[in-house]
Amino acid sequence: MVHNVTLIPGDGIGPELTEATRRVLEASGIKFNWEIVHAGTDVMAQYGTPLPPHVLESIRKNRVALKGPITTPIGSGFRSVNVALRKELELYACLRPCKSYEGTPTLYHNIDIVMVRENMEDLYAGIEFEKGTPNTSKLISFLGELGAKIRSDSGISIKPISDFGSRRIVRFAFEYARANKRRKVTAVHKANIMKFSDGLFLAVARDVAQAYPDIEFEDRIVDNMTMQLVKKPQQFDVLVCPNLYGDILSDLCAGLVGGLGVAPGANIGDSVALFEPTHGSAPKYKGMNKANPMAMMLSGVMMLRHIGETIAADRVEKAIAAVIAEGKSVTYDLKPEGQQDKAVGTSQVADAVIAKMK
Ligand code: NAD
Repeated sequence: MVHNVTLIPGDGIGPELTEATRRVLEASGIKFNWEIVHAGTDVMAQYGTPLPPHVLESIRKNRVALKGPITTPIGSGFRSVNVALRKELELYACLRPCKSYEGTPTLYHNIDIVMVRENMEDLYAGIEFEKGTPNTSKLISFLGELGAKIRSDSGISIKPISDFGSRRIVRFAFEYARANKRRKVTAVHKANIMKFSDGLFLAVARDVAQAYPDIEFEDRIVDNMTMQLVKKPQQFDVLVCPNLYGDILSDLCAGLVGGLGVAPGANIGDSVALFEPTHGSAPKYKGMNKANPMAMMLSGVMMLRHIGETIAADRVEKAIAAVIAEGKSVTYDLKPEGQQDKAVGTSQVADAVIAKMK
């Protein structure tokens, strides 16, 4: 069987990682019909938008996409293409496994945490009001009428968290836990301060948990959670978070298992799934054959599992694990301190993983 997959190389280090990943996935023996489409700054001039409609059409048609990172201008310019893709395709669940592989230079071992991050709501909803604009003044005076005083020189970002969105993501986390034989789900929030947004998320999580008596449920306030993740990460299994905490804790968890170079991810909706590493486009390494392609390869492994190719997925993951354990053909981020000059490049990692599969 040939699998139709939309392939978005991205920008920065994206195209190099995509190429390395494509080679590895093809070497697993699975046949792909890649539909290559581009998004981001590089297509702005040609299409007048960083996310042309044919990109979305291709993903909707194929229902599976593999994507490299895409740069988002900071502070001004277009909004994140990555966030737009998740919104347009209703990819409400972001799944980010953080797993220790033997041989990774890190202080922590035996970590196997899966982050389930809500992808559509919270401060990422993109509802923002710029300082000094007529709409912002209107909003400030309306809120003033309701008794909420806000300085007139403020910029405002809105944090919506719904019962529907919370229920959907918490159910997803429990269903994932059940399907993957995990033992516990931990909900992360700041319900003591944001009583009506995070408070709602927590109340819904407690309610949903009752339908899954076979899986332990607990909750943590996000600041305490960061401390506990650093102190004793092995106590955690599946985490379920509103959007912003999920974003921040994903990077923290990636750091525990060796860094962004080994942190894969998936954005999943009811009909479409898009696989991409947790990391961004690391522009300073663009074109240098330096960045670690393993996070993107492991996103490819998640994709293989999603399309039912579990044997190939296990084969690729085992080969990646073997390359890490051997420690010879790894990029700078997986070399112990002081040995970075012995690192290999992106494409050599792909060669080594392919060799291990043979
Ligand atoms: P980043 O993840 O690109 O890089 C942070 C640092 O992590 C890098 O400087 C590098 O040291 C390290 N790193 C990242 N990926 C690595 C890899 N594969 N191998 C080795 N080291 C790696 O984060 P940033 O610098 O905050 O963001 C750069 C751009 O990427 C921004 O425009 C941001 O908006 C965008 N971004 C995109 C996505 C996405 O496409 N989903 C995700 C996050 C950030």
